[in-house]
Amino acid sequence: MPEIGALKTALVVGAGMAGLCTARQLLRIGLKVLVLEASSDIGGVWVRDYDGYGLQIPWKHYQFPEFLWPEEIQPVEEYPSGAQVLAYIRAFAAHFGLLRCVRLNCKLLRLRWCDETREWETLYCDSVKQRFFKAKFDYTVICTGLYSNPNIPYYKGVESFAGLQIHAKEFTEMSLARGRRVVIIGSGKTAMDCASGLLVSRCAASVTLLYRSAHWPVPRSVLGIPVRRLLFSRAVASMLPPYYTASCVDRAVHAIVRPLKRLFWRGLECAINKKLHMGNGKLEAPPVGLPGDLFYGGQILDDSGAEMMHCEQLTAIKGEINKFVRNGVILLDGTFRPADVILYCTGYKKSYDYLEADLRLKLEVQKDGLYLYRNCLPPHVRHLAFVGSEVNTYASILTYSLTEFTVRP
Ligand SMILES: Cc1cc2nc3c(=O)[nH]c(=O)nc-3n(C[C@H](O)[C@H](O)[C@H](O)COP(=O)(O)OP(=O)(O)OC[C@H]3O[C@@H](n4cnc5c(N)ncnc54)[C@H](O)[C@@H]3O)c2cc1C
Repeated sequence: MPEIGALKTALVVGAGMAGLCTARQLLRIGLKVLVLEASSDIGGVWVRDYDGYGLQIPWKHYQFPEFLWPEEIQPVEEYPSGAQVLAYIRAFAAHFGLLRCVRLNCKLLRLRWCDETREWETLYCDSVKQRFFKAKFDYTVICTGLYSNPNIPYYKGVESFAGLQIHAKEFTEMSLARGRRVVIIGSGKTAMDCASGLLVSRCAASVTLLYRSAHWPVPRSVLGIPVRRLLFSRAVASMLPPYYTASCVDRAVHAIVRPLKRLFWRGLECAINKKLHMGNGKLEAPPVGLPGDLFYGGQILDDSGAEMMHCEQLTAIKGEINKFVRNGVILLDGTFRPADVILYCTGYKKSYDYLEADLRLKLEVQKDGLYLYRNCLPPHVRHLAFVGSEVNTYASILTYSLTEFTVRP
């Protein structure tokens, strides 16, 4: 744990929701804070994303405990658009005077711990001024999120493809695919949103969803019960398998009520299947149960998700691309899919390039990232914390709790 009482200066990397919450906490305990933000605006993922992006949980569940949505910008709809979330984050930053600490267009390039001075030495680049800067800090919190570096897999023959290839992050205008045959790679929330947007608006001529494994889409209401009651309630949380820290007594209780829990989740899965018509030649039902999948590919779809499943122009294929040809893709099973647009909904890559090699060693960087105490604190490196860059939280209040954790003495 950092010796919070002895700290005077702090660096926060990233001015998304996590970075701004962290800055607020650090200012509150009296530190001098600098927030570096690589892009030209605060707000992180909410600044710009695929056409039609928005919050997937109700806005009442996406609030900063210290600063609830001001009445004048409270969304009328339960599920706000990305722009509405951005307005809220901006209002939060303005309310706590955070903007004066933020340096936009400044990307952290190097982070190094100096044993002699017991400080973090940093190198960052201001892309507007086109200058490099060095600075030292007592404490560093990395809040670079999970969605900064788009992941585009490489396929054979990709250079020969004559159509448009684009990652979802850049797919900010649906009209790019007007009248075209679109192949979407992926089956996460982004893929489902893009597919339903393209089909329900009748923008694309056809959409092929190409996926390796299906996830459970959860509609905003099931059997007339809103999802906020279904998934965000203590009653439903008690239906989950026991947490790994559960006591023997809790485990015994779980074993007794296990059949009831199974019945509950199976019932919910059947209701979702019925509503979304999964397994009817479109998207197949996922191989894992809903409670397991929720924590990996959890996705809440708006009503267009159900409408999309009825669209004749939708084809969902479980498979993978073998190679590209000029006018489409050839799958591993030899099938040809014609395509004018390839939309990569293939997620994001993590990068730890800014960390000095010996620091990466101490942090024990794994293939899937860092293993941290409470998902925040590296066990072998003091005065360094990570918020939101190693795990995704389901609601802003959880991210907020993590930031509180980084300032406890
Ligand atoms: C479409 C969509 C819908 C979502 N819906 C929900 C939802 O319903 N509920 C929910 O809880 N979450 C949702 N999320 C997750 C969302 O990512 C989090 O809620 C939250 O906004 C993440 O904030 P963050 O600050 O951790 O990361 P980000 O918002 O990604 O911010 C990270 C910031 O760090 C900056 N950065 C990166 N590297 C550097 C560097 N080297 N130097 C300087 N700056 C850097 C980036 O430019 C970025 O501004 C959704 C995400 C998306 C994309």
